[in-house]
Order: sequence, then C-alpha cells, then structure tokens
Amino acid sequence: MSELIKGEKYDWEMVIGLEIHAQVKSNSKLFSASSTKFGSLPNSQVSLVDAAMPGMLPVINKYCIEQAVKSGVGLNANINNYSVFDRKNYFYADLPQGYQISQYKFPIVGEGKVTIDFKDGTSKDIRIVRLHLEQDAGKSLHDQNPSKTYVDLNRSGVALMEIVSEPDIRTPDEAGMYITKIRSILMYLDTCDGNMQEGSLRADVNISVRKPGDEYGTRCEIKNLNSIKFIKQAILYEAKRQIEILESGGSIEQNTMLFNTTTGKTRPMRNKEEAHDYRYFPDPDLLPLEISEEEVQKIKSSIPELPDELKNKFIDIYKLSSYDASVLTAEKHTSDYFNATINSNKELKKYAKIIVNWITSELFSLLNKNNIELTNSPVSPKNLGQLVKLISSNEISGKIAKDVLEEMFSSGKSAREIVDEKGLKQVTDHSQIEKIIDQVIEKNPKMVQEYLGGKDKLLGFFVGQAMKESKGKANPKILNDILKNKLNKEN
Ligand code: ADP
Ligand code: MG
Repeated sequence: MSELIKGEKYDWEMVIGLEIHAQVKSNSKLFSASSTKFGSLPNSQVSLVDAAMPGMLPVINKYCIEQAVKSGVGLNANINNYSVFDRKNYFYADLPQGYQISQYKFPIVGEGKVTIDFKDGTSKDIRIVRLHLEQDAGKSLHDQNPSKTYVDLNRSGVALMEIVSEPDIRTPDEAGMYITKIRSILMYLDTCDGNMQEGSLRADVNISVRKPGDEYGTRCEIKNLNSIKFIKQAILYEAKRQIEILESGGSIEQNTMLFNTTTGKTRPMRNKEEAHDYRYFPDPDLLPLEISEEEVQKIKSSIPELPDELKNKFIDIYKLSSYDASVLTAEKHTSDYFNATINSNKELKKYAKIIVNWITSELFSLLNKNNIELTNSPVSPKNLGQLVKLISSNEISGKIAKDVLEEMFSSGKSAREIVDEKGLKQVTDHSQIEKIIDQVIEKNPKMVQEYLGGKDKLLGFFVGQAMKESKGKANPKILNDILKNKLNKEN
C-alpha cells in the first residue's frame, strides 16, 4: 500500500514507526494507591510515593500488571515471564523523583503484530517490537500565574503502557489506521479507555524518507501527538520538510521535534548531541517481575472476543463484506449495538446488511449531528430492529423509514407507534395506486404527449408526481409497473 510523495527530483517513500503511550485503565496508580480519576482538583490525588518523599517505597499494583499482560495478548505478542523495572534518569520540574520508573532491556511484553484493513479488502500487518510499563509524570501549569509555573502531580505515577512498532508504516493513513486499531483492541480488552482528548492515548511519531528500495534514512521523532488528525498532518509536513532538504543536497539531522497544532508545522526541540543519556539501571527498590506461565494462561482465558475474531465471525455468519465487518467491529459499542439489534428478533438474521447500513449511515449521522454517543442512543437496538423489519416486509418504504428514524430519535417512540400514529404504512393496494396515477396523467396531458413522442426521461417526472400525491407512501415498484403500463396503453 506504499504511496509515494513527489519531490522536485524524485518520488519518495515515507518510513514511519510509532511509540504509543496508552494509560492503563486502573483505579489506582502503578506503584501507589492514589486515585487516577481524570479532572480532579490539582494535587488532590498524590500520595507520598507519587510526590517522591524521601524513604517512600513503590509497591507494584498487580492489576496494572494484569492489564499489561492482557494488552500484550491482544497484540498477538509474547508475554515475558521475567521483566525488570529500571530507573530512567532525567531532571524535569514535573518529575519529583528525578527519574521515571520504566522498563528497558527486559520489557513485560515482547514482539507482536496487529493487522490493519483497507477499504479495497486488502490488509497489512504492522509488527510490534515491545510493550513496556512505565510511570507517567506530573503536569506543569504555565497559565495560572503571570510569573510562576505551578505543578499538578495528580498524573504522577499513573501507569502507562508504551507500545513500540517496527517502522512498517508507509503512509499517514496507515499511521491513522494503526493507532485506531490499537485503540480499538485496548478498548475491547478494557485495558485503556482510549480517550485521546484526555490524553489516555497519545503517540510519538518517528519518520524518515527514502527513495524506494534504498536503506532507511535518518529519522526525526515528533513528540506527544494526541489526535489522529494531528498525527497525519505532522507526518506529511515532516516528510515534505525532509524531502526538500535531501533534494537540495542537505542531510537530515536526527532531531526530536514538536508539532504546532495551530500552524501545522514541526520545529526542532533538541538534536542528537543534546539527546539525554538516561543512565538506565534496575530500580533497587523493586525486584524483577516474575509471572508464572499459569498466571499468563489464566489471564489469557479471561480475554473477551477481540475485533478481528468478531469481524471474521460476522463475515462468516452474516455474509458481510470484510469492510462492513471491520466498520462494525472497530468500536466495541458498535458491535454490541449490532449484536443487540440483530438478536432482538429471530427474523432479522437475514437482514444483517440492511441493519449495518442503517446503523453506520443513518443512525451514526443523527448521533453525530446531535453530538450523542451510541451508548446513549435514543433509538434502542430493539426499536431499530423493528424499523428494519418494517422496511424489509415492505410495510414502509426506505424513504419514509428515514423520516420515521428521525422521529424515533427525537421522541424515543418505537417505529411501529410512529407508523400507526401517522398512517405511514406503505400503500400496496393496486387500485389505490392506479387512482393516483390516473389523476397525474389527467393533469399533465402535454407531458404525456412528450413522453409518447420519445422523451423517455419524463417517466421520472410522473413517478415523482405520483409519489408526491401518495405522500411518499406508494410502493415504488408497484407504482412504476402500473405507470409504465398505463402510459404505454395511451399510445
Ligand atoms: P530509540 O530507542 O531511540 O527510541 P528505537 O529503535 O526504539 O529507538 O525506535 C523508536 C521508533 O522509531 C520505533 O517505533 C521504530 O519503528 C522507529 N524507527 C526506527 N528507525 C526508523 C527510521 N529509519 N525511520 C522511521 N522510523 C524509525
Ligand atoms: Mg524510544
């Protein structure tokens, strides 16, 4: 799926690797019992350990370890029975310990892979190098006082999973699909809440460019991007910047960059010479982490159905296209909703494709417009199922069904209630439709002459008029048949 970008002289290929930071979903921090709740008053969730008071000792949170193992299994990765927590030493105002506890040589999760699916039905594997656990830092607040910087340590010590990919990604779209897939897997597993706005999932993007077939070029790393849109923008800007330098005879310095979300540009933060030497060493306060194979197996057996399995199941049982199935399984809420809809009535099994369409086009667009999450949808799965039944049994037309859905959405009523109340039932009675058509033909003698004179396109006009006359309720097929019949008889 390589897509080249044009320079002045050559076509170039992007080479991209992501380091994703995913906050572990856990009520308490990695090495302390403080709460991880988002949005609380600054410094209201800070224990003596998180504030790095002298003599305080970290205690491993077993739940966070299980969450990391679960995530590793979800990424089709090897779980390491032996891993080590290291100190990564650097000075920063929001890091009271003066080091971050992380994993370096011995991460808890080793090599894995995730699959991304393209619209054309093809797919691609992105290899994962590792997943390791580490502590988050605090947060400097620069906008609270004109002359002072404050620090909020609520986030200090919260567990993060860093997921490092091989540089297998080739386009900004692939980068977007990759992080979307990771997010989806972690959310199915319930190991990360996936909330990118709140920073629960963010990424450092490494990017270099090369002429196709060449060795990898020198990369730059863009730090801390928290939206898929920004990730794509930053990659494209950075690739173009590197290409311009290379084509004018320069070379790329291995820099760490920041992305300005307002200007859409990257700028260097530090270069390789200024790179930190973190002086990693095993944290003497923590023993190596050993997990028995038995424990790993126990965690494995607790894992729910993941998006890829569910996707294959949907293809298998409901004969959906690979693309439809991947849209349906991208978010757990969506597949849950689909399952609840199709299981609400035995007869609905045959109409999977129609259900998918109504969920992913009509219902999603109403939810978007009103800024409502699917989990809070005013249209219940059962009611959507009923609507699909009314459509598939020809009781209402697809066009009327759209209005009915809108009304269901705003009133919370069922499809059946609305159809009965408003008398929207489709007219299939031939004599009734015939009457309407006769009227339309009578009212438009000139048009009839033109039609008979060869202006075939006018058929659409008659259909429209008759449909309007029936208030949209006439069965379109019957209407069409009768109309053609009648017009031809006029001849
Ligand atoms: P470091 O230890 O300096 O962070 P890593 O080898 O762990 O370096 O790589 C970090 C990230 O950079 C990985 O996601 C990897 O896929 C990516 N990467 C490595 N080499 C390149 C390259 N030449 N171009 C783009 N990305 C790269
Ligand atoms: Mg790195």
